Amino acid sequence: MATINDNYLKLPGSYLFAEIGRRVAAYKEAHPEADVIRLGIGDVTQPLPAVCIEAMHQAVDEMAHKETFRGYGPEQGYSFLTEAILKNNYASKGIHFGTDEIFVSDGSKSDTGNIQEIFGSADKIAITDPVYPVYLDTNVMAGRTGTLQKDGHFAGVTYLPCTAENNFAPELPAERVDMLYLCCPNNPTGTTLSREELTKWVNWAKANDTVILFDAAYAAYITEPDVPTTIYEIPGAKDVAIEFRSFSKTAGFTGTRCGYTIIPKGVTGRAADGSRVPYNQLWNRRHTTKFNGTAYIVQRGAAAIYTEEGQKQVKELVGYYLENARIIREGLTAAGLEVYGGINAPYIWLKTPHDMPSWDFFDKLLTELNIVGTPGAGFGPCGEGYFRLTSFGDREDTKRAVARFQKLKF
Ligand SMILES: *Cc1c(COP(=O)(O)O)cnc(C)c1O
Repeated sequence: MATINDNYLKLPGSYLFAEIGRRVAAYKEAHPEADVIRLGIGDVTQPLPAVCIEAMHQAVDEMAHKETFRGYGPEQGYSFLTEAILKNNYASKGIHFGTDEIFVSDGSKSDTGNIQEIFGSADKIAITDPVYPVYLDTNVMAGRTGTLQKDGHFAGVTYLPCTAENNFAPELPAERVDMLYLCCPNNPTGTTLSREELTKWVNWAKANDTVILFDAAYAAYITEPDVPTTIYEIPGAKDVAIEFRSFSKTAGFTGTRCGYTIIPKGVTGRAADGSRVPYNQLWNRRHTTKFNGTAYIVQRGAAAIYTEEGQKQVKELVGYYLENARIIREGLTAAGLEVYGGINAPYIWLKTPHDMPSWDFFDKLLTELNIVGTPGAGFGPCGEGYFRLTSFGDREDTKRAVARFQKLKF
């Protein structure tokens, strides 16, 4: 008899975006004339940088000729891309990796979700709360979390609350864990950890033999000098941290698909016989067994952002979203709301007025202002009482939405 992986049944229904869609559709049906502005999406809206388009057109043409046609490429990524990444994002800061310490993929969702496979099935995890749901859900599927309790927490997971009270910088947990997920800049709070905060975590990880799984999908949005764009700026991080990066929010690749993971050879875990084994070796085995490489055409498009013109275009694209974020942040502050994030990230995280439950605030915005956002409770129990707006929309829509906020009564 075939059985199922019962761990899947422990997952609560992924109802967040489905429920948002349902409520918006119902409202629109009752009010067909309503001009609804969506600031809830976590997807980019502006076209790919021209350099990427040109590079991909050229790569398509190469595929049309026998002499330049490409079949399977190296699973870990073409060297034209890995070398460009290492040179521009790391060596330029004095951080050096071999090309066998980077793995190109089809995006960070897969990598942050799959990485747990190379850890022991009884390893303990810690996640910040609220956070991107992928880290937790993939560990639930793998049976590492225990069951869901009434308070919305899984029994076997260490949650690190991130609220306005601690300035969204989690405190060190009382107990040790094996795997620690950090997302910086954070989705959904839009906040970051300073160099000093990150140093504290790296030191703690070293002392506790913990691996930090560092998701830096929004690194390109960092504007403040005190916020490291890579965890490897912190001394000792090469021994304890795995870093995930993506072209999705950096260069609009959400539909084009390309990301990468850095696994330094110094990051090791204990084997059953007591020896230390580099996670790099395990991930390489996994990647070459379960993945057959990111499309050549896409990798050419990604590599194009590292030309001088490419860097200029990416800066412009990120700048567009950051300007939206500034407009939202300042407009909401002027309307009397308490807002966070939006300086080093495309997310604005606001405190709901009078501790209104986040789904009630969702309904209020939808019906009174015709604006769609995302209830904080969808990102973890500590997200209750908060609300996420994104700056990935059009400039005009963003401005119109902010103007409507000035009329919000609370
Ligand atoms: C968008 C996002 C990613 C990137 O996902 P891709 O699969 O590369 O598109 C990773 N982590 C977080 C927190 C994100 O919000």
